[in-house]
Amino acid sequence: MTWLDDLADKAVNRELPTREEALAVLATGDDELLDVVAAAFRVRRRFFGSRVKLNYLVNIKSGLCPEDCFYCSQRVGSAAEVLKYTWLKTDEIVASASAGVAGGARRVCLVASGRGPTDRDVDRVCESIEAFKSEHPDVEVCACLGLLTDGQADRLAAAGTTAYNHNLNTSGGHYADICTTHEYADRVSTVTAAKEAGLSPCSGMIAGMGETDEDLVDVAFALRALSPDSVPVNFLIPFDGTPLAGTWELTPQRCLRILAMVRFVNPDAEVRLAGGREIHLRSLQPLALHIVNSIFLGDYLTSEGQPGAADLSLIADAGFTVEGAPPAPAPATSSASKPAAGPASASASAPARSAALAPVATPSPAAPLSPDAPRPDLVHVRRRGPGTSLPANT
Ligand code: SF4
Repeated sequence: MTWLDDLADKAVNRELPTREEALAVLATGDDELLDVVAAAFRVRRRFFGSRVKLNYLVNIKSGLCPEDCFYCSQRVGSAAEVLKYTWLKTDEIVASASAGVAGGARRVCLVASGRGPTDRDVDRVCESIEAFKSEHPDVEVCACLGLLTDGQADRLAAAGTTAYNHNLNTSGGHYADICTTHEYADRVSTVTAAKEAGLSPCSGMIAGMGETDEDLVDVAFALRALSPDSVPVNFLIPFDGTPLAGTWELTPQRCLRILAMVRFVNPDAEVRLAGGREIHLRSLQPLALHIVNSIFLGDYLTSEGQPGAADLSLIADAGFTVEGAPPAPAPATSSASKPAAGPASASASAPARSAALAPVATPSPAAPLSPDAPRPDLVHVRRRGPGTSLPANT
């Protein structure tokens, strides 16, 4: 038995690791990396088998936020050239979210910029959620609208909202270094309010913002204390025009260690690989699927991800299956009946659907080979989907 076997045993039994163990995961060397992934995979497999849940983001109000979160391209004063638009209409939201469902998503996440919604904003979002749920009663809806005030979570729950996302983002000790317009405690309060209203709590973090290993462990443990059902792990997308522009602290190997640490601390939570996976994990994305059990399909709020078809291929190639997708067809017995090459699940038509989308985040032959090299060439501001006249990336 190695210490990683012990750690996996603890996690399988939902036992909390010690802080020292969590820190040790982050401190492992490259020669131990596959052992770390294998240990985390034991935990992932115990609670989630080989399923990968697809989530789909719809940015229902983009940019022009009065808050100053340093990592955010939508912050006050942001010079990032992201799409800016006010609340999408209900039919636009339903159409966008339905596109994600058609691509294989089992949860849609409706996200609005801003400190928090007014009661009128909540009314408008509830109307959209009710309209979406009438068409897709089995698809989960997660709302992410910022800080909630009294009664708002209850109203979202009554409208059929499944979950509420509000990330802690970083440790309490590091919070003032990434935001000055609201406090860490405000975020904890909103996660708690959502949970008390019966919404499934979704709360996660962003790595790569100047934090220490201790900060990463602190936020992972703080999340465990909140018992979220889902823990999205983002890796900073350092947009030009934001205070964290040019901050490239992560390597693919470090991303894997961070994901594994989060898995050991939150073993039975849906650990969701979120923004930044393409630009930071790059060709190691398949290894991450052995740790996380969920990813976002297609694009992010203000940046473009790899084509949705590539997401589906990633999952199929790594030997995983899309949660909720019909079973893969039996192998063909003759070349005449052989299905077209592509993902075995979710949607065999996905490659065709996304064929018109230029692939992004694919290293060119001339790309730097060092895992430490900044890769601003991989950051692409979203120019399709909600808020544009172009089809979404699904
Ligand atoms: S993270 Fe949310 S609250 Fe913070 S600046 Fe961005 S949109 Fe505003």
